[in-house]
Amino acid sequence: MNDDWSPRTRAIAAGRPDGPGEPLNTPIVPASTFLAGGERAYSREDGTPTWAALEEAVGALEGGHATAFASGIATAAAVFDLVPLGAEVALPTFSYAGTRGLADHAERAGRLRVRRIEPADTGAWIAAAGTADVLWLESPTNPTLDLVDLRAVLDAAAGRARVVVDNTFATPLGQRPLSLGADVVVHSATKLIGGHSDLLLGLTVTADAALAGQLRDARIRSGATPGALEAWLALRGLRTLPVRYAEQSRTAARLADLLPEHPAVTRVRYPGLGTMLAFELADAEAADRLCGALRLIRHATSLGGVESLVERRAALAGDAHVPPGLIRFSVGLEDPDDLWHDLRQALDQNA
Ligand SMILES: *Cc1c(COP(=O)(O)O)cnc(C)c1O
Repeated sequence: MNDDWSPRTRAIAAGRPDGPGEPLNTPIVPASTFLAGGERAYSREDGTPTWAALEEAVGALEGGHATAFASGIATAAAVFDLVPLGAEVALPTFSYAGTRGLADHAERAGRLRVRRIEPADTGAWIAAAGTADVLWLESPTNPTLDLVDLRAVLDAAAGRARVVVDNTFATPLGQRPLSLGADVVVHSATKLIGGHSDLLLGLTVTADAALAGQLRDARIRSGATPGALEAWLALRGLRTLPVRYAEQSRTAARLADLLPEHPAVTRVRYPGLGTMLAFELADAEAADRLCGALRLIRHATSLGGVESLVERRAALAGDAHVPPGLIRFSVGLEDPDDLWHDLRQALDQNA
């Protein structure tokens, strides 16, 4: 890997075999065990060539050592597994519901103390950097697209709390938190890295080799290992992440400009970059009507694929605090004009 190469080039070039006669792409290796005497013995402990290729490519993009897990949430479980009993974890009041649910559960069980901080309350994050053991940051947040001032919080936390950044929404194309001083980046590769809504997978990335070893050990203990096909598909998806991210972001910015002009839309949340946006209608009924009236954009949970998806998040138990008329919109690769026409005809039914 050449240090000068841009992210777009790294996404193509990293994680490939390079010996004469080897396949250009690392194959799917569905092995639990390997013949004795080599570098790998058992895949849960030693990994597989397929996982290693994906880990090398994601590591090259984020700037650290990557470890692949069975899902995004398994990465959060691994991070929490490393902290001592009674440790304090600070996390956003409103962010991905699964991570908050994991922290809530550990708190109820008496394993962790949890402090909840508004994403934009930089002063509270800076104060927590001096007392908490772990700061768990997510920016932009899922599903309300709030931002944490990563630079300010990471500067304040240097040498103090361990800082983890969930980079699922921004991807390494939008921001590289390790370069700003984060200790660990986590991804749900189920979303943008995979990019095709056909797999579950997560990754941790850290520049600290000892911490990378601890995260790998947490994977061995939990057994939260990725499948061979999933790892292969995630790397295949990663190859096109830069172009998908650029194009889907362009479309998202355009739709974020058009949406406020429609009388049925009361608010648009778009941080100015990225493929995700959210918009609000008057109430839950209007939002449900919109989801039912769309013809091209599909109504489904999850995000980050080539297909545009919408969901009314307040309908889900973990996100009941979200404004009732808020629609999370994962912008795909369809023609932007077709997306806008579909949105407009569905919105017109609410105007
Ligand atoms: C989906 C998601 C996760 C969890 O990932 P899974 O692959 O579903 O386990 C974590 N963080 C964010 C921001 C997500 O959107």
